[in-house]
Amino acid sequence: MRKTELQISLRNLEHNLSVIKSKTTSDIQAVVKANFYGLQLEKIIEILDPQVESYAVITLDEARALRKLTKLPILLLQGAHENDDYEDIKQLELDFVLHSSWQIKGIDEHNLTNNRLWLKVNTGMNRLGFSEQEFSEHYNLMIKKNFKDIVLMSHLASSSDSSNKQNQSQISKFNKITNDMSSKKSLANSGALFNYPKSHFDIVRTGIALYGGKYHEFGIKSISCLRSKIISIKKVSKGETVGYDGAWRAEQDTHIAAIGIGYGDGFPYFSEPYNVSINGNTYKTVGKTNMDLITINIGNEHKINVGDWVQLWGYETNLTELSKSFHSISYQLLTNISRRVAKNYLE
Ligand SMILES: *Cc1c(COP(=O)(O)O)cnc(C)c1O
Repeated sequence: MRKTELQISLRNLEHNLSVIKSKTTSDIQAVVKANFYGLQLEKIIEILDPQVESYAVITLDEARALRKLTKLPILLLQGAHENDDYEDIKQLELDFVLHSSWQIKGIDEHNLTNNRLWLKVNTGMNRLGFSEQEFSEHYNLMIKKNFKDIVLMSHLASSSDSSNKQNQSQISKFNKITNDMSSKKSLANSGALFNYPKSHFDIVRTGIALYGGKYHEFGIKSISCLRSKIISIKKVSKGETVGYDGAWRAEQDTHIAAIGIGYGDGFPYFSEPYNVSINGNTYKTVGKTNMDLITINIGNEHKINVGDWVQLWGYETNLTELSKSFHSISYQLLTNISRRVAKNYLE
């Protein structure tokens, strides 16, 4: 079997959940979209279930798989993507978001008043959600339709930035718009949980903080270690090149180790040297990421063998910092890791 794995520390994940819970008295919605932010953590439902209020996903497939594991509310974060979706929404007893008027026709055709409806207002993100005026009209309409449970929601555009003024103006706007409405309210994601206590309202929707991709300054720990075993070590002479397009040339005789992971596994494409760790020492990659391989210069004075683990990132790695070297963000580093990479738990 190919020894390439994303190892996950459930202990660190539990730690992150406790950090999150220590920051708020509001209910927690665990956002588990994109396959648990790439981590395939079906197993954590047992840990989360007694401690969270609900879950959030994007697709019906995600909701269907999750429904087999939990009885808690599951929110479809973008609601129906087409009218037919409401059949599954009803059958799987999903919460759903209403963000656009085209989504109402389907609501009328299905009897959904027992499903919890999340009505979304645009407070400045300008992505999804009703304008202030549309929002109050739709709220009244949904009350008239006899929806038993409605949550009023919006989303902050810059919550990871504790000094961005747009956050306060979005919070004020949300307060002003929903002030006279008695329904529950939800505005905060992970960034808002830490940076904007006034945004917590009734339900906080946290994703990345659970998975340790950000907010280490608040005590969040990384929960994943990406590693792969060396499958080959080769002698390369001075002047020879390694890999596609001869992108790297040996300036002296050396040894090149190859590991079975590449961009086909969701690791970012790179051609600049990347630092990896082998037996606690740091080495640099050479050449470009291949679909299925990465090559590393291990020099001549080494005690490295085929079968040794090469760590691409570990529990000590700050994924937000690391992601910058790929002009990316930690969310993408995690969600890109493909299903081809085994997900194992640290025992
Ligand atoms: C993804 C998402 C979240 C979670 O955001 P994090 O930054 O991962 O905590 C919350 N709310 C909405 C609407 C989302 O799409």
